[in-house]
Amino acid sequence: MAELKLSETRDLTRIERIGAHSHIRGLGLDSTLEPRSVSDGMVGQTTARKAAGVIVQMVKDGKIAGRAVLLAGQPGTGKTAIAMGMSKSLGQETPFAMLAGSQLFSLEMSKTEALMQAFRKAIGVRIKEETEVIEGEVVEIQIDRPAVSGAASKTGKLTLKTTEMETVYDLGAKMIEALAKDKDAMGPQTKFVQCPDGELQKRKEVVHCVTLHEIDVINSRTQGFLALFTGDTGEIRAEVREQIDTKVAEWREEGKAEIVPGVLFIDEVHMLDIECFSFLNRALENEMAPILVVATNRGITTLRGTNYKSAHGIPIDFLDRLLIISTQPYTEEEIRKILEIRCQEEDVEMSEDGKVLLTKIGVDTSLRYAIHLITSAALACQKRKGKLVEMEDISRVYELFWDVKRSTQYLIEYQSQYMF
Ligand code: ATP
Repeated sequence: MAELKLSETRDLTRIERIGAHSHIRGLGLDSTLEPRSVSDGMVGQTTARKAAGVIVQMVKDGKIAGRAVLLAGQPGTGKTAIAMGMSKSLGQETPFAMLAGSQLFSLEMSKTEALMQAFRKAIGVRIKEETEVIEGEVVEIQIDRPAVSGAASKTGKLTLKTTEMETVYDLGAKMIEALAKDKDAMGPQTKFVQCPDGELQKRKEVVHCVTLHEIDVINSRTQGFLALFTGDTGEIRAEVREQIDTKVAEWREEGKAEIVPGVLFIDEVHMLDIECFSFLNRALENEMAPILVVATNRGITTLRGTNYKSAHGIPIDFLDRLLIISTQPYTEEEIRKILEIRCQEEDVEMSEDGKVLLTKIGVDTSLRYAIHLITSAALACQKRKGKLVEMEDISRVYELFWDVKRSTQYLIEYQSQYMF
């Protein structure tokens, strides 16, 4: 593979860094789970953040599994941002899987298989394994030698690298070799006593964390774990999963493994149809089920696959299972703060007037539209060789790119000229 040039590597890092939610580093809560008004890249939305923090804490404490939470609120009120904040606060060991409702209908597998894979991506298995010690680890060995032929008794410690030892016998040989350098310590009755935490420390317990989905893929593809890199995760046969579940249950009984229920986040949950909801209902009953967090910006709407309308497009029996967290529209001050954080994230310097105008646009149109204008206004500024993004740059891109309101207004006026 051709080597990546340094500049390319930088570009790649940068693209990743400025993703839509890259400024979110957590939920911005203090140790008592109280939300700080601005923290971890999060602004306002305090009640929802606190509620999300309580859920995260319960997941970490292993107190809940198989529950479902709904983040409900208008577009752009931070539902996805809060889910990202939850993922960051869960830590690396707790799995977090994410899926958009619409993805279920575009994958090359059945929707229930896609949901099953998403569930198993959110269930971690902590496997304990005994392994050889790592190279170069140093152990201390206690020596205890009685007085011999005029030499005084000797007790003390000897430090050896564990990689130098193979067996107890080898250990003894190494000791003698080491002691040989110290004439005074030599003697036939020299005893070797292991340190209290001994067992020669030749073996060490290591812990791996994998998801059930990873185990499924490794065991169902001929390339084994390489399949995880090629993305060949296709459909997985039910028998393979059953065998894996039985194996994992055995490991749990033997104390070799623990289940770590994580979080599965499904955005645009109103895109799911009645069959998907019935699958979710059942999947949540499983004792290994993760916490399911779903989000929607829909009000009362048609439940996909039926002619019925329901709140958020979710069937009543599933709604009844959900803990609902509501997100609220932002104040002008909060919008300004979020836009400032995004400017920092994108390394864009903006004049005070520019910030005032951009905030006004955010209030009048949408937060997301205003966030988008930051990047294009910075380009406009760069083009005129300016240092600070000014009102003129923002006005320029505001003219170039329409927001939803203007676009809709145009359609209403010129509807007759469009195809039906
Ligand atoms: P939709 O219903 O349209 O999916 P949403 O509620 O999921 O919208 P987000 O995508 O989370 O909204 O928010 C829009 C943008 O604003 C994102 O870039 C997000 O990171 C940012 N954002 C939203 N709320 C906050 C917040 N409280 N603090 C910081 N950034 C936020």
